[in-house]
Amino acid sequence: MSHKSFSSVTDAPTADGAGEPFARAKRSLGQNFLSDPNTAAKIVAACGIAAGDTVIEIGPGRGALTGLVAAAGPGSFLALEKDRDLAAHLARTYPTLSVAITDALRQDWGRLDLLSGDVRILGNLPYNIASPLLWDLCAGATRFARAVFMVQHEVALRLCAAPGGRAYGALTAWIASHVRATYCFKVPPTVFRPRPKVDSAVVAMTPLPLADRPGEPRALSKLLKLLFSKRRKQLGGILKSWRDATLDDWLAGQGIRLTDRPETLAPKQLAGLAEMLKLRLAS
Ligand code: SAM
Repeated sequence: MSHKSFSSVTDAPTADGAGEPFARAKRSLGQNFLSDPNTAAKIVAACGIAAGDTVIEIGPGRGALTGLVAAAGPGSFLALEKDRDLAAHLARTYPTLSVAITDALRQDWGRLDLLSGDVRILGNLPYNIASPLLWDLCAGATRFARAVFMVQHEVALRLCAAPGGRAYGALTAWIASHVRATYCFKVPPTVFRPRPKVDSAVVAMTPLPLADRPGEPRALSKLLKLLFSKRRKQLGGILKSWRDATLDDWLAGQGIRLTDRPETLAPKQLAGLAEMLKLRLAS
């Protein structure tokens, strides 16, 4: 997968004013546009933008959030929009906004760490890209001030779940290993055009200190996918071929039983297990 860098993202094709901005919403791009100014204002307020901040908006669409962000007076404001026609319209409407016509799934989010000042990220995310996008963004960017996203309600519950419940899974443990995620508020389908079939919710995130992030992120990513693809099985069974005295002692020291299921392990325990198993997970 090729990545664009944030330092060069304005080299991406920029909006040139061509095209019809308000053609029919494209389902393939998850275009459910927010039509309620109150909800938009709540999302932007949750991001806490101060004058001079650097703001990145993902999927600005027809600008429901964009105008409010621009009014907050960011020092720099960049939007990533895949729809060329909408990007053209936004560039015409908001002169202080840089619009990159690009795929938010193909960014090197680590580049955000090179920006100076407070970086804030927000977006009403298309349902179909929210999980992979947040997986990459939360691991890649380590020092943004705050991020606020609207996602499908069920995804918001997964992002903020505690161990032990049905909503807790690989996405939860990965996100919780990199950021503190907080459920903010629920949003009904009636505030979108066209209306989605499901509820949405807004989630806020702040990065964990570097020292609290996973020591072996690649191994953790592999481990989470392995464990939660067998979430009904017991750890002893899933880890059978890798078991030895060292691993069994470590599990016992953590208070983890071989009969436990993956969903009972806290993010820190999973990160520790990934460090224990990193050589095995590398093969
Ligand atoms: N922010 C607007 C609002 O609240 O009304 C639009 C939200 S709409 C749910 C999602 C937006 O993300 C659309 O404008 C869509 O074109 C854009 N989009 C979809 N996939 C994208 C991607 N991979 N990268 C960047 N933008 C994308």
